[in-house]
Amino acid sequence: MSDFRPSRRQFLAVLGSLPVVAAFGKAAEALTSPTHQALSSKGPYSLPALPYPYDALEPIIDAQTMRLHHDKHHAAYVDNLNKALAQHPELGREGLEQLLRNLDKVPADIRTAVQNHGGGHWNHTFFWELMKPSGSRQPVGELAEAIRATFSSFENFQSRFVEAGLKVFGSGWVWLVVNSQKRLEILTTANQDTPLALGAYPILGNDVWEHAYYLKYQNRRGDYLKAWWQVVNWDVALEHYARARK
Ligand code: MN
Repeated sequence: MSDFRPSRRQFLAVLGSLPVVAAFGKAAEALTSPTHQALSSKGPYSLPALPYPYDALEPIIDAQTMRLHHDKHHAAYVDNLNKALAQHPELGREGLEQLLRNLDKVPADIRTAVQNHGGGHWNHTFFWELMKPSGSRQPVGELAEAIRATFSSFENFQSRFVEAGLKVFGSGWVWLVVNSQKRLEILTTANQDTPLALGAYPILGNDVWEHAYYLKYQNRRGDYLKAWWQVVNWDVALEHYARARK
């Protein structure tokens, strides 16, 4: 299990202070795949192993989707982010979150690459951590209270989140964030844009790119959005909420 530790450090490095999630034995396999080792030697960022096995979120998210999504899509963002940063090695030591919050300060020749591939790396790392097998079903603690206070009820919040996700035209994400006024807000971003660039702190985020659901749900994005609640890790969401309010 010691093989798992580097991936935890990767998550922490990418996302900042996050709660520790349980390590599953199968996830360590990913670290030993040639793809991952090759990627990690090419720059400051490497693909973190999933914090659970590929099939852990079945039947909500199928293993084949998880494998392609993580090993191919997420890996490509990491690879392309490293390629971009190779042109400006001085940025390699900046935290990714800082780069994404201050895209205007990123050199113009790699700004779009950092926005797209850095955003892709950050968003997916956030996304994997936010899910777990048999999620907790309901928000917990102060986040549960804040959702009720802001959206009248958890059910109403869920409907509005699903509706917002359905309205994303093309590829993007739907988020629950703490906005710059420190209030909960549902928002969407296009492509791999992050809420960080808007001065917000993500609490929840769901990937509505077709690659996230098409193999199992085909064109039925709404079914995917509704089923996704069953794998949300509300304990992690609560940690994000606590951090956002500091
Ligand atoms: Mn994705």
